[in-house]
Amino acid sequence: MNKHNGTHQAFQEATIELRRVAQTGGHDMDSKVKLYLQQFGIGEATQRFLTKPLRMFIGGAWLEAGDDATAEVVEPYTEGVLTHIPMATKADLDCAVRAARAQFDGGAWRLLKPLERERLLHRLAELIELHAAELAEIESIDVGKSVAQARDVDIQGTIDTFRYFAGWASKIHGRTAEPSLPGNYLAYTRKEPVGVVGVIVPWNFPLQTMAWKLGAALACGCTVVVKPAELTSLSALRFAELVQEAGIPDGVVNIVTGRGSVVGEAMATHPGIDKLSFTGSTPVGCTVGKAAMDQMKRLTLELGGKSPVMVLADADLPTAAQAVANGVFFNSGQVCDAGTRVYIHRSIYDEFLRELAAYTRTLKLAPGLDPDCFISPLVSKQQQERVLAYIETGKREGAELYYGGQPVEGPGYFVEPTIFANCRNDMRIVQEEIFGPVLVTAPFDDEEEALALANDSAFGLAAAIYSNDLGRVHGLIPRLRAGSVYVNAHSTIDPSMPFGGYKQSGYGKDLGSEQLDYLLETKAVWITLP
Ligand code: NAD
Repeated sequence: MNKHNGTHQAFQEATIELRRVAQTGGHDMDSKVKLYLQQFGIGEATQRFLTKPLRMFIGGAWLEAGDDATAEVVEPYTEGVLTHIPMATKADLDCAVRAARAQFDGGAWRLLKPLERERLLHRLAELIELHAAELAEIESIDVGKSVAQARDVDIQGTIDTFRYFAGWASKIHGRTAEPSLPGNYLAYTRKEPVGVVGVIVPWNFPLQTMAWKLGAALACGCTVVVKPAELTSLSALRFAELVQEAGIPDGVVNIVTGRGSVVGEAMATHPGIDKLSFTGSTPVGCTVGKAAMDQMKRLTLELGGKSPVMVLADADLPTAAQAVANGVFFNSGQVCDAGTRVYIHRSIYDEFLRELAAYTRTLKLAPGLDPDCFISPLVSKQQQERVLAYIETGKREGAELYYGGQPVEGPGYFVEPTIFANCRNDMRIVQEEIFGPVLVTAPFDDEEEALALANDSAFGLAAAIYSNDLGRVHGLIPRLRAGSVYVNAHSTIDPSMPFGGYKQSGYGKDLGSEQLDYLLETKAVWITLP
């Protein structure tokens, strides 16, 4: 399939003329990437960041890896090398944990009054807002994602999250009790920060996912060591510069870039880390969780999903079809709570599929920096191959390929939005997380059947219902085994509401006041009075 836009073809033609292109990038940026960045006129600040040597942020210092190791960062549209990032050793991680420990155990951070923490978090939010355009470009270029979506969702979500949790910093407190025990006591509770928090995040919303964990942790008075995904560490490194500019004391936030098998594994067992907050796949989350439990670390695990969607017979078809398509194809399907399994009442099944396909056809497939891009390249060649392999599996399993599923001419790790019809729940494409723009659908005859199909999954991150009959919807909500239920929409996420899964989608919550419970210890104090 050809991408339905001129920018891609223009890029292909221009690559032939590469030698004539003026040098704009850094010493190790591939000329294809330079051309791409030039073609879309990325900002000077973004260029400056992408062309300078990148270092980790540990204890307020900018450091290379202990053994000087680096890894290439590949840009997903051009498939060329963008830059390099340090690949930390276990000793580097240990330095970061010691820096975070020192600040937590008695550094300037521990002595700050809550309102001062609140002020610093607001200052950080202001700086992120000031640099929003640059951060959106960095995120788009690193992940491959739409720059418009990065600006409106990733970066705006990051700003909102820091603002929301800034307000909490001065509102965390315990309670007094009235014990019935004989005697005279002052009995009260204290809410105390859990300690040094190890944060491990995936590649689909790098900055925003990190912000979810850091906003709450810093508001509670914790210090943090972050390991971004090795594929997408750039926004975390730019963010670290803003942390420094905001005046947050050195060692409170540490960013250690590196491999999951080295840095991530070491975080799960490091005795200096009190709590681990992990977002990623269910298999890795299980491994991390088991290792962390050996030291009784506090845990939050935000894991995979395969979220069901129920379209009832009375749903408003064109509106529901658009929302369903957006709910699965946003960020090219690389979304943990994407509504990837859609069960549709048999009486409207054919019409709904037609609406779905008609709307999907309007979603522009283009490089992430194209302002009109909706479907961008996936993050890596490996992810593209994984998703394409699942499409082949679906065909072999007997699912009907209703829309898309054809190879996309390169460059770029594109996968065409794909819709399967008449799927069975025992198919792998229905049970396994694909993490790409692939939607599976099936008809149902009554709501009991739809509920059984929806709940028949190892995952339980989210679910959605489309209907105008809110009475019926209200009856269905408690019976869905999912951490979030969206009605007549998908992925409506806000810092004021908790996010986290049931079943193998993890445990613990990010966001909302509920997240604070996972970052605070409660101390019971008994004072015997004369
Ligand atoms: P992943 O599990 O492969 O990696 C996630 C992070 O864990 C990365 O930083 C990686 O380096 C690190 N890691 C890898 N091996 C490790 C190990 N042995 N020990 C410690 N850390 C290790 O996931 P991914 O492919 O980066 O991201 C996609 C997955 O993330 C999907 O399953 C998606 O559903 C999930 N996700 C969940 C949520 C949520 O909130 N529930 C949000 C976004 C993504």
